[in-house]
Amino acid sequence: MASPEFHIPQLPTNDMVMSKARDIANRVLGPAAAQNDKAGRFSTEAVKFLGESGLLGLMLPTEMGGFGLGPRAFANVTATLAEADASVAMVYLMHVLGAAAILAARPSATAAVRPILGAIAAGRHLSTLAFSESGSRSHFWSPVSRARRNGSGVHISAKKSWVTSAGFAQSYIVSSLSPEGAGPTDSTLYLLPAETRGLSVAGAWDGLGLRANASAPIALDDCEVPAHFQLTEDGAGFEAMQNVVLPLFSLGTAAVALGICRATVAGTTAHLKNARFEHLGQSLGESLPTLRAQLATMQIDTDGLSARIDDLIDHLERPCETTVLRVLETKAAAGDVAINVTSTAMRICGGAAFSKHMSIERLFRDAHAGAVMAPTGDVLREFTAKALLGMPLF
Ligand SMILES: Cc1cc2nc3c(=O)[nH]c(=O)nc-3n(C[C@H](O)[C@H](O)[C@H](O)COP(=O)(O)OP(=O)(O)OC[C@H]3O[C@@H](n4cnc5c(N)ncnc54)[C@H](O)[C@@H]3O)c2cc1C
Repeated sequence: MASPEFHIPQLPTNDMVMSKARDIANRVLGPAAAQNDKAGRFSTEAVKFLGESGLLGLMLPTEMGGFGLGPRAFANVTATLAEADASVAMVYLMHVLGAAAILAARPSATAAVRPILGAIAAGRHLSTLAFSESGSRSHFWSPVSRARRNGSGVHISAKKSWVTSAGFAQSYIVSSLSPEGAGPTDSTLYLLPAETRGLSVAGAWDGLGLRANASAPIALDDCEVPAHFQLTEDGAGFEAMQNVVLPLFSLGTAAVALGICRATVAGTTAHLKNARFEHLGQSLGESLPTLRAQLATMQIDTDGLSARIDDLIDHLERPCETTVLRVLETKAAAGDVAINVTSTAMRICGGAAFSKHMSIERLFRDAHAGAVMAPTGDVLREFTAKALLGMPLF
């Protein structure tokens, strides 16, 4: 008699999600990245495949249909996507942060957001953060908009600048000063579905880099937000930004930088092998020790960033007294490394890179986004030094 077959459900693993990410990067992202960059076109196909693969629910609990994985899987998947297309990786990163903010909703909002988390896990819902405002610029922790009471809910009017996935996300995690907040950081986080009346994309996105991620401004014109879509208690938005969003944002932007660096090293290596001085009978790499030395420095810096990311993951998995410092340092360092590695590649690859015959110049442009995304590299240095000196950060 044949023995009965038992189907034991397979728990998601880092290897499993990495193989999904690699497959999407190779089949969907890589072939379209150059054209999407040129056209400034948001890749709805990428989001579709990320949704179908389950990767949009990477960090959501398995009982909600998510993969229930942690920061290591998030960093690995994001870096892998960024190697093929940093624009899509940034869309993914902002979505994972949005999902984390929704998951952390206050108890009175959990019933209302449960179907949204289910839709994310099922791959049908893309979220993003709408924190930055044109009034407070990169100081996103101090929104200038203020929510107004409307029964048990609020009304919000705000000028949100640079919202990744603007016009393509199904929900926006919006910060605004709470109605009775006394200080500049007394903000609250709200969930606004894309169809909220008064919410509109208020301009085009035509950036130097990350051109295919639709980081356009969003206008909120007297948007009504019911109490069940208020994600944090009044005035607790800042705390959620610091504790839920910032650690993953630092890790995710560092992972995007790592993907950019890895792709740059690979592209530069291929160029040094394939481009030839025919009159000397040698490839560029064989011919010029100075180029070899610069390539080696790029590789050393890239592996250094990888080690730094591993260290931050360890800190996030087992928080200790140095975790806040690592969160601040890692994003600052990653921005610098990505700019340095891609700048060196532009020099090594010469006119071929300059005249856009290679992906190096796209990587160079994309690499500059991380450092200007808030908290910017300058602000992170300021915070790091203040933390070392025992001074208050805000
Ligand atoms: C591609 C891209 C995607 C983005 N996506 C999103 C998103 O999804 N959601 C969102 O909310 N925002 C997003 N942003 C916005 C981003 O986080 C910043 O708010 C924005 O880039 C700030 O630009 P700014 O010109 O207003 O900077 P400014 O505030 O004008 O800064 C100008 C310069 O001053 C420096 N500076 C500012 N304050 C200090 C300080 N205290 N100490 C030292 N130096 C300082 C800065 O480092 C910078 O060099 C995105 C930005 C980009 C470029």
